[in-house]
Amino acid sequence: MSKGIVSKEEDYSAWYNELVIKADLAEYAPVKGCMVIKPYGYSIWEKMQSVLDGMFKETGHVNAYFPLFIPKSFFSKEASHVDGFAKECAVVTHYRLKNDGNGNIVVDEDAKLEEELIVRPTSETIIWNTYRGWIQSYRDLPILVNQWANVVRWEMRTRMFLRTTEFLWQEGHTAHATPEEAIAETEQMLNVYADFAENWMGVPVVRGKKSANERFAGALETYCIEALMQDGKALQAGTSHFLGQNFAKAFDVKFTNKVNVQDFVWATSWGVSTRLIGALIMAHSDDAGLVLPPKLAPIQVVVVPIYKHQEELDNITEYVKGLTKELKAKGISIKFDNRDTHRPGAKFAEYELKGVPLRVAIGSRDMTNGTVELARRDTKTKETVNQEGLADLIEAKLEEIQQNIYQKAFDFRAANTTEVDTYDEFKRLLDEKPGFLSAHWDGTPETEQLIKDETKATIRCIPLDNKQEEGVCIRTGKPSTQRVLFARAY
Ligand code: AMP
Repeated sequence: MSKGIVSKEEDYSAWYNELVIKADLAEYAPVKGCMVIKPYGYSIWEKMQSVLDGMFKETGHVNAYFPLFIPKSFFSKEASHVDGFAKECAVVTHYRLKNDGNGNIVVDEDAKLEEELIVRPTSETIIWNTYRGWIQSYRDLPILVNQWANVVRWEMRTRMFLRTTEFLWQEGHTAHATPEEAIAETEQMLNVYADFAENWMGVPVVRGKKSANERFAGALETYCIEALMQDGKALQAGTSHFLGQNFAKAFDVKFTNKVNVQDFVWATSWGVSTRLIGALIMAHSDDAGLVLPPKLAPIQVVVVPIYKHQEELDNITEYVKGLTKELKAKGISIKFDNRDTHRPGAKFAEYELKGVPLRVAIGSRDMTNGTVELARRDTKTKETVNQEGLADLIEAKLEEIQQNIYQKAFDFRAANTTEVDTYDEFKRLLDEKPGFLSAHWDGTPETEQLIKDETKATIRCIPLDNKQEEGVCIRTGKPSTQRVLFARAY
């Protein structure tokens, strides 16, 4: 069904939007910037959730749930936090509607809230207000809590999954006795995210720190993982913040330490969202549809029978039953598409569009020969293989596909990461060969802003594995001690 989608070379943005709809992942909602996540899209999210949740628990975290509504006054308590989020807050002012007598439903002005409520854009404030009651002494620390929730940020420019007004995410909020422990937690969670992105999503990421301009509102340090999409634009795929004592001070959360002295508690927060589904699509997919990494594909193997008579189908069905059992025992998900309402060709196109990693087609001749046709979604190659040992072969192929998808994305990133030493070259590459540009910068927010205004490129991060290197800023010529990664970003 490749005919349905605009080619990504022709119009990357249109390709992405169409693919989201045609692969049945999501659709637009009546409110601008919101989306309906359809069952196929949601099942990818469920897989992501389940893996990440396991990783969080493995690192000692527990889940809890905090309210959607935050009193407005909470927001004003941390000055830079409110500054950062004020522009995108949804505010609840009333709690009732009424019929105005002319058949119109209007807001009931008698039902005005005494204090307006903010629909959470992130939960630091409500959570730190709660932690005040949970923490008295060092014995109450650390608190390692995560919540799975929806949040609302009134974004002006939206795109399905990548940037929506309401999105699903997890947010970890931890409390610690020392800054060292909080920083170690921030770094640990960054590594968890990088591990997930690379080993599950097949998306290589750069681990780094944000510059002051791009830091989370209220954080002392924002760590991030940055990925490169196939159009050469960067995507921030996850963040982990060291919040210092800012929220503890704002909400008066103190603890008595081991030597009986009172101090404010140290905080972190970290999150990934449904944006990761956007990252998955943009990093791997092609003009024929989605390409999903086997580890996150809702259906890993689809079997399409090719038959004319019921007897042939019965014969194939019998074989597939055995194969299903073997694959299930290996933890591999398989779908047998025996619908008689669709022709095999239409089914092939549908699963190609939906990015099912392996397709098994079985016809009558295959049944006679003891073979099947095995097709890989990532390379679009087909081969005839023996039915005997097929489950083992499928298991090995899925692993191979997972590796291949990662390697392809890795090679793409390598080919599109360039060291640049002049501003002319920087600007030329942004237009002609977009990707990560590694360049010297004088370290000031003013220069970063200037470069952003002039080129739309921002500092994606200061890579954690950066080498110190003497150089001069590409824009101002002032001295610099290291390169940072620039890109145009989503
Ligand atoms: P933040 O709280 O701003 O650090 O964001 C936490 C995570 O949510 C990051 O991984 C962001 O990439 C992601 N995110 C931020 N805004 C949006 C949005 N409007 N839609 C989807 N994901 C978002």
